[in-house]
Amino acid sequence: MSETTASGVRGISAASAFAGMRNVAPVRFRAGCPDCRGAFELAASALRLAIGASSRTTFYSFTCPDCGAAVRKPAGERIVELLTGGGVRTLRLHAP
Ligand SMILES: [Zn+2]
Repeated sequence: MSETTASGVRGISAASAFAGMRNVAPVRFRAGCPDCRGAFELAASALRLAIGASSRTTFYSFTCPDCGAAVRKPAGERIVELLTGGGVRTLRLHAP
């Protein structure tokens, strides 16, 4: 019964709707709030990534949907890759 789901998902006509755009999927990122300790999933548009000159000044930020706190967390290379690949708005803090 589940035979078709394994290979039949690809090639949906919706792909043509995204022609011209990069592969933008509705990615969601898991995040946690240190203030209220809430755990939730955020859309790419809810996150911001700031890339500094070093990994110490590279972080991502979001507003907690539960308590409204502004959360800022350090972002390592993998997270940066993940976020930029997921379409998160990126701000470069240093001149290239
Ligand atoms: Zn919170």
